[in-house]
Amino acid sequence: MLMRITLLGTGTSTGVPLIGCNCEVCRSTELRNKRLRSSVFIETGTTNILIDISPDFRQQALLNNINKIDAVLITHAHRDHIGGLDDLKPYNYLTGNPIPVYSESNVIQTIRTEFHYAFNPTTDSIPQLTLFEIKYPLSFNINNITITPIRLFHENLPVLGFRIGKFAYLTDFSHIDNDELQKLLNIDLLVIAALRHKPHPKHVTFSRALEIIEAINPRMARLTHMSHTLGKHSDISLKCPPNVQPGFDNEMLTI
Ligand SMILES: [Zn+2]
Ligand SMILES: [Zn+2]
Ligand SMILES: [Zn+2]
Repeated sequence: MLMRITLLGTGTSTGVPLIGCNCEVCRSTELRNKRLRSSVFIETGTTNILIDISPDFRQQALLNNINKIDAVLITHAHRDHIGGLDDLKPYNYLTGNPIPVYSESNVIQTIRTEFHYAFNPTTDSIPQLTLFEIKYPLSFNINNITITPIRLFHENLPVLGFRIGKFAYLTDFSHIDNDELQKLLNIDLLVIAALRHKPHPKHVTFSRALEIIEAINPRMARLTHMSHTLGKHSDISLKCPPNVQPGFDNEMLTI
């Protein structure tokens, strides 16, 4: 199965530049140092899958000509990963159908609370969503594509990563069990969060991300969910082994 993966955003929850920051990364005019909130788009030829829907989704979709979405997978309910749900409305207009959104039950509850108007409509202007529960560790199918959920811990919060064929996406986590690492062997592309150098209770550091990449040993890896403090794209790149690169917004990878 040929897959094209587009990194729609590679920034942490604030995005880069950070409002009001004068550091060299935030002041940089290079496109590779501008990071919208994290999300990836996967195209298999028949099926288009979005993982997470950031507050920047509208401009990400316009920039990348995303005109069809078969399903949205949500890793967890932090705002930088669900903030764009309202912007699914145009896809309702295009298809006349609700958009399937897949996530764990706690995430479904949060979506129902935070986007309550979509489920108790008092106006026509709502995103029509059909919420499907992911029952970890069970794999599930979207069209003919098998999705394997991966358990991650975002400090104490259980969140999901996803493996789809030879691609895997792991964001917003501080811990992964060895059993889960085993589910990620033999892949061509790993997109993994690497927030910053300084330890953070909810996120792996750059050096920990590199250790996890080494354990999984994918053919190639890209870093995402990066803070401005991780540095400029060109500087991060110099610190990475040959099969690893910092991702950048709108980067397309085919596997
Ligand atoms: Zn996040
Ligand atoms: Zn900065
Ligand atoms: Zn998070």
